Amino acid sequence: MQKVKIPITLDPCRAAQRRASYDGVVMLEELSRLQQVVRDQSSEIAVDIHFNIDEQGLVVVQGKVRAHLTVVCQRCNDELGLDLEQDFAYSPVGLGAESDDLPERYDVLELDEEGEVNLRQIVEDELLLAIPIVPTHDEAQCSYSDEPKSFGEIEAEDSKPNPFEILKQLKKDS
Ligand SMILES: [Zn+2]
Repeated sequence: MQKVKIPITLDPCRAAQRRASYDGVVMLEELSRLQQVVRDQSSEIAVDIHFNIDEQGLVVVQGKVRAHLTVVCQRCNDELGLDLEQDFAYSPVGLGAESDDLPERYDVLELDEEGEVNLRQIVEDELLLAIPIVPTHDEAQCSYSDEPKSFGEIEAEDSKPNPFEILKQLKKDS
């Protein structure tokens, strides 16, 4: 199937009125925050996004992101491949709906000054959330030993602020 290029920003209300639907790819190279936490230089992220108006009249942006990305195992420091898949459902607020009366099944969608949504940002946030806070191999596959050869390296890894932790905190507060 021909994959379409996912638009960078668009107006979710207008997209919902015409029931816009995109099945396409976003390149890892376009997602700088995600690039900082994975080992991959390049990767294709499969994105499925549908715009709709639900039975309550709310604009809904929902879909799924799928990617295979490589991170560092926090136990053995070796590479760890992750098959990530995350469903999402957002609804923009400030369009007759306030975030307090948004049904729980929807996350709050932030719009920019033009009333548009940045789809790259949604894809990036969802993948950052899909990566475990402390990614590790399954016990059987992990090459961790009780006497790590490169103790210094593990220390350096630990002292970095954890971007997943920060994002999860943000998401919880909103
Ligand atoms: Zn491991």
